[in-house]
Amino acid sequence: MIPEIQIPSIVITILQVILAFGGAFFLALWLSLITWTFRDARLRSRDIFAVILATLMVVVFGPLGLVLYFLLRPPMTLAELYERSLEEEALLQDLEERPRCPGCSRQVQDVWIVCPDCHTKLKKICTTCQHNLHLTWNICPFCGTPTAASVASSNQHPGQPGQRMVDTRPIVPTSMAIEHSSSAVS
Ligand SMILES: [Zn+2]
Ligand SMILES: [Zn+2]
Repeated sequence: MIPEIQIPSIVITILQVILAFGGAFFLALWLSLITWTFRDARLRSRDIFAVILATLMVVVFGPLGLVLYFLLRPPMTLAELYERSLEEEALLQDLEERPRCPGCSRQVQDVWIVCPDCHTKLKKICTTCQHNLHLTWNICPFCGTPTAASVASSNQHPGQPGQRMVDTRPIVPTSMAIEHSSSAVS
């Protein structure tokens, strides 16, 4: 005869309560994992089929499904991908915008006046304020001195390079100025 073990009813009640709480906790945990997976997959993929598949994996396999999901999910969220593409674009644009030498097309710095590789003249210097000027400018934007050394106008004032002129004429682009003076000569 097996001796009958009397379990006090209070112990049974306590065990039932613990089991109920434990069960409820695990159910909540399971649902939370499913919700988390669904949200995380949505952040990482636009493909709704992949999102549903990932969620189903956790629904069916529970925590093991979550482990599988961690192994398979895309490493970056869509927002991170977007941010990275923006950064790359900005970097490319920055590279493209850096000035290049017209002679050897190597990258040059904006402050250089001569290319160190092929000795092509990149900038000219204002004779009055010593600022670097673009070769095409025919007036210094810093002090207003007309510059004689621009590509076409240099033959207009032979022997007076960079002379500060007291000029009351309206400032016109170089090409127009040449037309103006040549028509005056003829
Ligand atoms: Zn060069
Ligand atoms: Zn100047």
